Amino acid sequence: MAHLQRPSQLRIRCGSPVAGLALLAAATFLPAVLFLSVGGAAARPDIAEMFSERRQERETMVFTQLKGHFRTEIADKVVIDAMLKVPRHLFIPPANRAFAYYDTPVPIGHGQTISQPYIVALMTQALDVRPGMKVLEVGTGSGYQAAILAEITPHVFTIEIIEPLYKNAQAVLTTLGYSSVAVRLGDGYYGIQEYSPFDRIIVTCAALHIPPPLFEQLKPGGKMVIPVGGPFETQRLLLVTKDQEGGRTSKTLELVRFVPLIRGTGEGR
Ligand code: SAH
Repeated sequence: MAHLQRPSQLRIRCGSPVAGLALLAAATFLPAVLFLSVGGAAARPDIAEMFSERRQERETMVFTQLKGHFRTEIADKVVIDAMLKVPRHLFIPPANRAFAYYDTPVPIGHGQTISQPYIVALMTQALDVRPGMKVLEVGTGSGYQAAILAEITPHVFTIEIIEPLYKNAQAVLTTLGYSSVAVRLGDGYYGIQEYSPFDRIIVTCAALHIPPPLFEQLKPGGKMVIPVGGPFETQRLLLVTKDQEGGRTSKTLELVRFVPLIRGTGEGR
């Protein structure tokens, strides 16, 4: 369906392979874990070095890709600062790191992708997170979106259904000092009941409908950003708000393509 959309309207995040990256999709995540968590004292760069690496490419990413050009401009300073700071390449398997700052999604193994930088920024901006808010992310993937959120508020909870991705994201986040992020293995369709309610919920995989447990776990006045639509079809990126009486309104932000929300066993309940 991608060809039916104006390029400026459709942000392909996954699904159709990105040109030049398809062969890299099989890359496993293990080398990243080895690099980051058991690299050994001699080989492991210190944390300040990790954050300064490839800073210039991050600046180019922020000051070109996030500037609009036929799409919503990213103007929220907290989002821009987070995108400038977080070393996106370290969330990507080494074989694919060359592509870390391109305006595309990048494979992270297990058929999943780290979102295009613009989509991460757009979703974070729409979510309107402020310091002190409690945020739930469904679909940890690489852990990059969770790190961006953790730059804004210390109360970030993220849930992933694929165990190797969950383990890797936890290792990367800990290595980079994002130990305040609570990473959980399970089916995010059910949210995380014991930590609810949340001020904000961000879903980074496409659901067929807004999962009722997620809407229930949103505080009155809360916001959710979620792609809704069939697997590997054009989906609508929705901003959902819950009013003080528990009523729902939603607004379409963009047409997008996300990997599907996988229905698990309900273990995340
Ligand atoms: N936010 C991620 C990108 C995630 S890609 C990042 O910053 O890298 C979507 C992720 O959602 C994949 O890792 C996929 O395994 C996960 N996912 C799919 N269905 C899920 C479910 N029911 N619960 C939790 N995670 C799910």
